Amino acid sequence: MARYRAAVCRQCRREGIKLFLKGARCFTEKCAIERRNYPPGQHGLSRTKLTPYGVQLREKQKAKHIYGVLESQFRRYFERAEREKGITGENLLKLLERRLDNVVFRLGMAASRREARQMVGHGHFQVNGRKVSVPSYIVKVGEVVQLRPRSKFAERAADNLAAGRAAVPPWLQVDVNDKKGTVRGLPMREDIQIPVQEQLIVELFSK
Ligand code: SF4
Repeated sequence: MARYRAAVCRQCRREGIKLFLKGARCFTEKCAIERRNYPPGQHGLSRTKLTPYGVQLREKQKAKHIYGVLESQFRRYFERAEREKGITGENLLKLLERRLDNVVFRLGMAASRREARQMVGHGHFQVNGRKVSVPSYIVKVGEVVQLRPRSKFAERAADNLAAGRAAVPPWLQVDVNDKKGTVRGLPMREDIQIPVQEQLIVELFSK
C-alpha cells in the first residue's frame, strides 16, 4: 500500500492553508502553519505569483493531500468520475468522500484521515459484519461501518468520538455506543466541506 512518507506539515505550508492532516496537533500552536506560514524550502519566503496552470495544479495537489491519495490513484478516481453521470468535478469529490478511511474520519472515530487509514489498514474495521482492511474501499448506501470487537483501537476511537471535533455529515449516521456508522445516502457537494475548487482540477486534466 503506497503512501506519502515525507513530513505532512510541508503539504500545508506548500498550499498556504491548514489541511488538518495531523489530528489534535492541528488545533494547537505547534501547528507548522501557525509557526511558519510560508512555503517550505530554500526559496519558500520568495513566493512568486502563480500562473493559471499553477493554480490548477495546486488545487489538484490540495485534494490529493487532504484525502491522502497518490497521483496514479487520483487519476483513476478522475477517470471513474468522468465515466459517471453528472458533473465530473463533483463526482470526483464524492468518490473520494466515500473512501472507507474518510468515512471512519467523518464519523469521528479517528482524529485525522491518516489515523483512519492506519486503523482500517490494520484490519480494525468491518463493513456489514465483514472485515475490510482496504482504506480505498468505496462505501455504498445502506452499509454499516463498525469498529471490530476487541479492537485495540476501541479506547482511541471512544476518545475521538468524545472529542467530537468534526460534525458528522448528513449522509452518515453515527452510533457512538456501538462505535459504528451507517451510510444513509450518497454525499452531496454541499456536504463536502473542503477548500478545493474541483472545476480547476477538471480543467487541469482536460488539457
Ligand atoms: Fe497542517 Fe496539521 Fe501540520 Fe498544521 S499541524 S501544518 S494543520 S498537518
